[in-house]
Amino acid sequence: MDPLTITSGISTANQALSLMRGVADALRASGKSEAVAQVIDLQLAMMDLLQKHQELFAEATRLRAQVVDLEKALIDRGNIEFHFEAYWRRLPDGKFEGPFSPHCFDKDGRLYRMHYRGLIGPDILEFACLESEKFSSIPLRFVKESTNWTEDEIHKR
Ligand SMILES: [Zn+2]
Repeated sequence: MDPLTITSGISTANQALSLMRGVADALRASGKSEAVAQVIDLQLAMMDLLQKHQELFAEATRLRAQVVDLEKALIDRGNIEFHFEAYWRRLPDGKFEGPFSPHCFDKDGRLYRMHYRGLIGPDILEFACLESEKFSSIPLRFVKESTNWTEDEIHKR
């Protein structure tokens, strides 16, 4: 539903409520109190409907945003590759962004960036996932050849 449809739906409902108010006044003037009570019930039902309409609109908005997120995640998945003990996102220049936690990605399909913990041995970098508290070892050679990290970044992380 587009916002215009929603707005026009609400304005139609408000118009109907106002018409009912007129009918209730006319009935009250002619002394038909039972009919007045029925019109008031109708007004209450209408207001209830209006509220449900607004709740559904909020829900639809939320779901629409979720669909956009999921579509984005699906597109992202096509660029994800597994190398050594982690997932990497392939960038347009062919280099990799990452690493991302393998345990977490396999579990819920989301990318959790791993944090650099330091060198273990002369040419192995160790990364940690703060979410799953697991570690991955990545060869220094791979990071140098396949990412855009500068020499400085590799040694100061
Ligand atoms: Zn993890």
